[in-house]
Amino acid sequence: MSKVFQQKNHTVNALKNIHCTIYQGEMVAIMGTSGSGKSTLLNMISAIDEPTEGELFLFGKRAQDVYKEPNASKFRKENIGFVFQSFHLLKDLSVEDNIALPLILNDLPSKEIKVRVHQIMEQLNIEAWRKHRPTELSGGQQQRVAIARAIIANPPILLADEPTGALDVNTTDEILQLLVQLQKNMNQTILLVTHDPYVATYANRVLFFHDGAIVDSYQNNKTHEDLDCILTKFKLITRGDS
Ligand code: ADP
Ligand code: MG
Repeated sequence: MSKVFQQKNHTVNALKNIHCTIYQGEMVAIMGTSGSGKSTLLNMISAIDEPTEGELFLFGKRAQDVYKEPNASKFRKENIGFVFQSFHLLKDLSVEDNIALPLILNDLPSKEIKVRVHQIMEQLNIEAWRKHRPTELSGGQQQRVAIARAIIANPPILLADEPTGALDVNTTDEILQLLVQLQKNMNQTILLVTHDPYVATYANRVLFFHDGAIVDSYQNNKTHEDLDCILTKFKLITRGDS
């Protein structure tokens, strides 16, 4: 896949013929310097933006005409859950209404929505906050709500752009453990963008982005070596030696 942004006076090659396969049930971390194309890739995967060249395959099948509306919205609704650094919750809605939103948009019967929302709040341990507004919650609690909303419609792919970027160390652990739990219990495929090597240790595999290309990768073996290896590889990239 390639993506070229045509500006008035210059062009940006945001993705340079990259190729990657994400396996079902895998958690992959994407690391890279600022402007290396991480968000652009997430936008291509979620059909928010169209690649200049290349294709997207889901479950081994070419996702056809996925970059044209109304297909793009449908594809996103059915396949992608999003988690952001800044939570993106609707501040005027209660926790349970925020979580219910994707199901309401999917026109599910309200009885079914109620059951499903209740289930997921229990699973993510946020039941006690169901009537609260997001602003009354801590950052970690808000991110739990955002994760609940992202997965309530059972999307095959969960995309998370710096999901722990606004959280303190302890809460970061809590949220990462929650993601691992989703991966283990629900076989949730997760693609996680981060600049933090520690966060990347929670993934199965790390892809290193630099200047629009995947320049390196690392398979975590879940030992204390992982952090050092990731840090070393990341340092090489940021120094531009790779
Ligand atoms: P990252 O998420 O890794 O920080 P991005 O994917 O946001 O990087 O951006 C990659 C490159 O593409 C950057 O040089 C950025 O300035 C450029 N870019 C991203 N979006 C646009 C856009 N809509 N128009 C023009 N250039 C863009
Ligand atoms: Mg980005």
